[in-house]
Amino acid sequence: MIVLKGISKQYAAVTAIRHADLLVPEGSIYGIIGRSGAGKSTLLRIMSLLEAPDTGEVYYGTERVDTLRGMDLLQRRRKMGMIFQNFNLLGSRNVTGNIAYPLEIGGVPKKQIEKRVDELLELVDIQDKRKARLGELSGGQKQRVAIARALAVNPEVLFCDEATSALDPQTTRSILTLIQELHERLGITVALITHQMEVIRAVCEEVAVLDEGRIVERGTVDEVFRDPKTAAARELVYA
Ligand code: ADP
Repeated sequence: MIVLKGISKQYAAVTAIRHADLLVPEGSIYGIIGRSGAGKSTLLRIMSLLEAPDTGEVYYGTERVDTLRGMDLLQRRRKMGMIFQNFNLLGSRNVTGNIAYPLEIGGVPKKQIEKRVDELLELVDIQDKRKARLGELSGGQKQRVAIARALAVNPEVLFCDEATSALDPQTTRSILTLIQELHERLGITVALITHQMEVIRAVCEEVAVLDEGRIVERGTVDEVFRDPKTAAARELVYA
């Protein structure tokens, strides 16, 4: 599980996160919602150790991880996968080249990479696109490549940063179904931020609501959506 304790983060005059506590249970799909500028991306960057908090502590299980540096930090980050709204794929590489990239960086032997890429293509159901250039893919197919790349190193956690926000409703549903299937099949913990309430309703078990850097509400999706207690949550749920 991922635990955030008393996290704060300031950028010049802007307080992005104010004393946030959060517990993401192992093996859950956890959603973080909030209006634009509420601090969602900052919180995700802190959880995924891309950024250090000014104050507070981050734990993975019982291990404190926000203080990791150098190789220890790299090794911990290798156990995480990330996907983004804009896919962040390498335009110079084809589908196979993109999925193979983290394995090449990790020094995995070529034969093993080929085998793993085959497995991953099957996992995200784009076997027929292995040689395709990115320009030949739809948004949904690009996100499938990004998911395959994120899963290449068998991460324990998948972070999704507005991963379906650039996709049409039908493609959004197919990507959410895929994330749910992967979650069930691989037992991976998923933490996602989104401004799309339908994403939370469709896949999340628990949700936290951020407002001006504060976590103002948290609970099961049922609880929060049935009876939002704060103005910030009501604004999102009833929008
Ligand atoms: P959200 O993801 O909910 O839209 P962010 O975490 O991106 O919110 O931003 C929270 C606040 O912190 C915003 O006011 C934003 O302008 C500010 N902020 C985020 N990242 C930076 C940064 N690297 N430098 C300066 N300000 C930042």
